[in-house]
Amino acid sequence: MSTESSSWAGERIIPGQIDKYLNAGGSDFIPDGAIEDQLRDKSIINAAGDKARVREIIAKSLSIKGLEPQETAVLLNVRDPELWIEMEEAAGKVKKTVYDNRIVTFAPLYLSTACVNNCRYCGLRADNHSVSRGVLTLDEVRSEIEILAGKIGHKRLVVVYGEHPKSGIDYMVETVETIYKTRVPIPHRPGRDTAIRRVNVNAAPMTIEELGRLGKAGLGTYQVFQETYHKETYGAVHPPSTLKGNYRWRLYCMHRALEAGIDDVGIGALFGLYDWRFEVMGLVYHSLELENRFGIGPHTVSFPRLEPAENTPFVNQSKYTVDDADFRKALTVIRLSIPHAGMILTARENAALRKSLIPLGITQTDASSNIGLGAYNKAKGEEMQESTRQQFILGDTRSLDDVVREYAKMGYITSFCTAGYRCGRTGECIMDSLRSGAEGKFCKLNAVITFREWLNDFASPETKTAGEIVINKEIEELKEKVPKVFDTFMDYYNRTVTGERDLYF
Ligand code: SAM
Ligand code: SF4
Repeated sequence: MSTESSSWAGERIIPGQIDKYLNAGGSDFIPDGAIEDQLRDKSIINAAGDKARVREIIAKSLSIKGLEPQETAVLLNVRDPELWIEMEEAAGKVKKTVYDNRIVTFAPLYLSTACVNNCRYCGLRADNHSVSRGVLTLDEVRSEIEILAGKIGHKRLVVVYGEHPKSGIDYMVETVETIYKTRVPIPHRPGRDTAIRRVNVNAAPMTIEELGRLGKAGLGTYQVFQETYHKETYGAVHPPSTLKGNYRWRLYCMHRALEAGIDDVGIGALFGLYDWRFEVMGLVYHSLELENRFGIGPHTVSFPRLEPAENTPFVNQSKYTVDDADFRKALTVIRLSIPHAGMILTARENAALRKSLIPLGITQTDASSNIGLGAYNKAKGEEMQESTRQQFILGDTRSLDDVVREYAKMGYITSFCTAGYRCGRTGECIMDSLRSGAEGKFCKLNAVITFREWLNDFASPETKTAGEIVINKEIEELKEKVPKVFDTFMDYYNRTVTGERDLYF
């Protein structure tokens, strides 16, 4: 690392912005020892073998109440395959109650692959000289948007940054603002243009002041994954001499975000670093801490699994690799334990597995993803993935059109709605709406209108046909469910059909 980078890194962490959140006595909200005990406790294991008790917990989830850690620990210890089937069914029902049959799509956009850290599992770690890296210029950002919004039809992005002085807060604010300002033509619809309407950010922990600036730039959700909640493992995979080596700076970054006025925060764990059951417990503790302290739970939960990365042998050596069957269980229990959170399943997983996991309660997936730097432009006619230019290798590189068609055939409506954040339905307000079911109504209306818009502007004929079957069903439901606003809705819908854009409730 250059002297400039190391002096920048040396000044980033402000101890007072960790200490202020600690419990009396100086502990944090992840009780490692207690979690290990809960997962092995005799009474919990007995409860997991007691069908009546397990069904009681499932019933609590179905009434859309979050679970306590002890209850989550019981579910994680269930052995009976029949009960797992019941839990999976319940997970799907929980999702349906909170989010109906909607699914949201987005694309990842890597803006900087320079990084001062040395996470052992990551292809972008500073010491990995086999990967070429850089930081996109604002012009390059705009040309990526031309493809993402103009050609593919994305409305939401998650922009990703390595942790580096070249992509610090000034660069983040500039790039987020540039993305919002960029309107691009739709090449196959002469005279029509479009834009990205929601920019979520995945970037290393920041100070309250920096997060305030990012909030003002209009970001949607701020995502940071704890990677592992297990402190010993965290120390082993994130060298203590690096910025990311500070577990608590990362653990409390969502506290700082919420304090800075960012309402939507996304938590996550990287599955494969430690026991997956422990990580599910960590996510539940994190969610409860945010809810108890700020009245706002996580907007989303992510569960990336370790993927191969260029010159990164750690990935194949981890003792805690999570197989598909256990991954399925982890997702089921997360859905049941944290019912209000959106759940993000990324293209790290292959297409067939993604299809089979969606009914467990997934609310967001990426599509037509490319994670190389500047790769949406470079991919024209070239190999989509280049391991020496990207963080890890993707499992699903299908186009947005293919993914939307698959969802439509499964009965899901892909929502391109971004209204929630643009008209203040975020944070505590959205939590209340999700609890009462009111959000569902707005979302259903907006999902149909935005899906119609997307089908007209971007869908292949086959996808349009599959999508229209879903839309017609939705319109019939809306007639029954929201008679008071149905006429206004149909007015918006018909105006969208004839070419008006960006109408929403
Ligand atoms: N550099 C920022 C940070 O670490 O917070 C931004 C996030 S990083 C570019 C995005 C996420 O990718 C990480 O938080 C981690 O969970 C995940 N990741 C890193 N290496 C991975 C791998 N080999 N396979 C799958 N996911 C990985
Ligand atoms: Fe850097 Fe993030 Fe990769 Fe760690 S996970 S090396 S912080 S890009």
